[in-house]
Amino acid sequence: MNKQFERNLKIKRARRYRIVFFLLFFLIISMVLFLLAYFLIPAKDITNLGDNIGATAPSQENSVNDGKSEPSSTQTVQSEAPVDKYDEYSYTFSADLSSYEQYMNPHNDDYLFLVNVDNKLQENYIPDDLTDVIYTRDDGRNTQQMRLYAEKALEALFIEAQAQGMTYVNPKSGYGLSVMSAYRSYAYQKQLFDQRVASTGSEEAASKIVQYPGASEHQSGLCCDMHNLSSADESYESDASAKWLAENSYKFGFILRYPKDKTEITGISFEPWHFRFVGRYHASKMYELGMCLEEYMEYIKK
Ligand SMILES: [Zn+2]
Repeated sequence: MNKQFERNLKIKRARRYRIVFFLLFFLIISMVLFLLAYFLIPAKDITNLGDNIGATAPSQENSVNDGKSEPSSTQTVQSEAPVDKYDEYSYTFSADLSSYEQYMNPHNDDYLFLVNVDNKLQENYIPDDLTDVIYTRDDGRNTQQMRLYAEKALEALFIEAQAQGMTYVNPKSGYGLSVMSAYRSYAYQKQLFDQRVASTGSEEAASKIVQYPGASEHQSGLCCDMHNLSSADESYESDASAKWLAENSYKFGFILRYPKDKTEITGISFEPWHFRFVGRYHASKMYELGMCLEEYMEYIKK
């Protein structure tokens, strides 16, 4: 009895070992197949993805920004071609802004960088593509300037704002939403700062009102102050155009740079009139995540 029991036990064990052996065998075979597939088949797809991020960006811009084909481009995303992250957000507008698409939605990260006290611009930094801002307030001030993409995207914003009935009113017949200040040179910022130092008595007190030279985003040529008051005031927040800007500017590639609930992080008091161009993709992401630029730059590092 005992012997037979032992024999049965041995047979059972042997069977068990065989099963384990075959399982291991199949596991190893499938791992080898998987590794082969991983290294051989997707090699092409991976290089394609790399191209999207890098050098071929400008040519993609052209192909996307024939513009009129925009609605159908959302459908072609479903094809097998790798999805371009810059196509993640597309919006419908009341006005025909197809010719502005390429500016509102640059397919690169060129406009995404921080300018603040910890990230100052060089004294000799002058953008080489400054363009006249056509919506500068017509009250005798110098025509303001911004970098080409930011200015064109801002034009689109104003066109849409007008199409929605918001808008740029001829400032000669009263104040309309218009650009008060955009690009400022290092020298001009220094002049503004020095004036504040003189009136407040210290650099520290001045820096709470005016940015240190080099620390002002205005030197980047990517931002502007716009409102419909005689001079900037926090009360602008409750104006219909301010609300519209806060809720819509990201579609055109702009962010409300110094939000009310982020003053601790930005170090700048709430400025409902100051908008910064970063491009639609990043502006939309920031809007969605509820982050200011400082937070977002940390967030994308991870
Ligand atoms: Zn400003």
